[in-house]
Amino acid sequence: MSKYLSISETNIQTVISFVGDVQFKTELPSNVLRSGVSSYIEQFDERVFSEEEVERIMALLTNVKSEINISKEEHIQSLHNRYASKTICPKCGSELVMREVKQGARKGSQFLGCSSFPRCRYTKELENKSNWRMITIIVILFLVIIIVNKL
Ligand SMILES: [Zn+2]
Repeated sequence: MSKYLSISETNIQTVISFVGDVQFKTELPSNVLRSGVSSYIEQFDERVFSEEEVERIMALLTNVKSEINISKEEHIQSLHNRYASKTICPKCGSELVMREVKQGARKGSQFLGCSSFPRCRYTKELENKSNWRMITIIVILFLVIIIVNKL
């Protein structure tokens, strides 16, 4: 969308709105809605485009349905690639940076956060490194035991 409209990804807000009676098993992120799309959109009141830009974008969007023609599989693959990235924010395209939890029970633990914070609040958990550390320690212990037994 950003490429098609030639606008920065930081100026694009992603929102998903479900229509009809849907049930969710987990809590919804703030940009996934079952109702209230218009009030969700209205919360973004910062002016980022000039009148001319809005007209240009509108004209492009009118053609979007006929011009964008990717398959469902391609769309899913592209989403997967975006969200697997450890360097680029999938929400806004900015760089992801290493951050540390400042307070609470997880204080001191690290995660990836969007460098455009607070404009973009995307965060990504790091894979649990302590599991690998534990496996490494166990492997080293085994090696030590084997060496000791051979002496
Ligand atoms: Zn971001």
